[in-house]
Amino acid sequence: MSRFQTPPGTSDVLPEKAAERDRLEQTAKKILEKAGYGRIETPTFEFTELFARGVGEATDVVQKEMFNLEADSGTSYTLRPEGTAPVMRAYMEHGMHKLPQPVKLWYLSSYFRNETPQAHRYRQFSQLGIEAIGSPDPAVDAEVILLLAEILEAIGVRDVTLLLASLGQPESRAEYREELVAYLRAHEDQLSREVVDRIDLNPLRAFDSKDPRTREVMAKAPRLIDRLPQEDLDHFAEVQDLLQAAHLAYTVDTTLVRGLDYYTRTLFEFQSGQLGATQNALGGGGRYDGLAQALGGPPTPGIGWAAGVERMLSASTQPPPVEAPVDLFVAYHPEHKVAAFKLASDARRAGHSARLELAGRSVKGQLKQASRVRPRYVAIFTDEGVELRDRDGGEDKLVAPETVMHHIRGTL
Ligand code: AMP
Repeated sequence: MSRFQTPPGTSDVLPEKAAERDRLEQTAKKILEKAGYGRIETPTFEFTELFARGVGEATDVVQKEMFNLEADSGTSYTLRPEGTAPVMRAYMEHGMHKLPQPVKLWYLSSYFRNETPQAHRYRQFSQLGIEAIGSPDPAVDAEVILLLAEILEAIGVRDVTLLLASLGQPESRAEYREELVAYLRAHEDQLSREVVDRIDLNPLRAFDSKDPRTREVMAKAPRLIDRLPQEDLDHFAEVQDLLQAAHLAYTVDTTLVRGLDYYTRTLFEFQSGQLGATQNALGGGGRYDGLAQALGGPPTPGIGWAAGVERMLSASTQPPPVEAPVDLFVAYHPEHKVAAFKLASDARRAGHSARLELAGRSVKGQLKQASRVRPRYVAIFTDEGVELRDRDGGEDKLVAPETVMHHIRGTL
């Protein structure tokens, strides 16, 4: 073994896992593109400022988890920790407001957060995500939620629950925030150190605390949902009506908080019991009608979600994908190497899958290898010609090398 290993919180994706990811990607692509989503790819790094403004200075992500890069004498870039701010940047940079709204985009890429690695929490991970930008209609909220539910079902994720909340808009949240800060201050002595330290910075995160005494205090804390103005309640009610019409079960969770700052109104998270008790979030998202303005653009409504690919795969109960069958295995005595090589390459050009001995094995060794691969045909180059074995019950034949393709064509 070399003295190098993958850095903490990262891992290699070996072919078997890559095949599972590939299947997930194909499934998601099919579902999303049928709903009108187009794929977008943004750079792996962006100006640090984009995330500072777009994700929010007060968030854990910006405060503690960004991998920053220095370049261009003093300009700071950051490996993307999330996909929404970059996609909104791209929407504005490319004038996508001129397209029919909402603009629907999906992505699957690597993201980077400098977190303490643990089960289901990595420093490099993949997210599948979508963003629907340009419409405030509650139907968009319901549609994006349904799409994630459909993907989770299609990839065989079991034991899924959907939590739903509404955060209202910034004005109602600001008033509520003051009320919550006052409540937290009044109970400071019963709250965890971490929560107390962040009362002014991000009081809503207190609902996220795992500390038992803090949880007791939070159980009686004022709830945002009881303070929302009618407009926000109407929006939330319509989202729920639409989800019910689509028969999607959900639980309203008035304590749901998510780590990113830009959410307004609808907020949701899909969890799976298969992931254990703490890192059980498969994915989630919400509406971010204030994000474009936070990035210096015009008011632009939007909603989206991101789901962790590693978590979805580990909560999936689907059997591993079966490998594609091999059509032809070419074995040969050393003096027929060139002709054997040519046959394998002709077969591939004709669209068949073909394997050729590449490690100098004896013919016996090659045939052993062939029985592992289980091809439809085995062609063995000998001095007498090519022995063509049909493993699908056909007869073994001795044929001329240049006729092998003719013999297998039409049967595969
Ligand atoms: P977020 O962008 O924080 O809302 O995360 C969306 C989803 O991405 C989560 O529900 C997880 O499934 C996944 N995720 C976020 N952070 C990590 C991480 N550090 N390691 C693995 N998956 C993650």
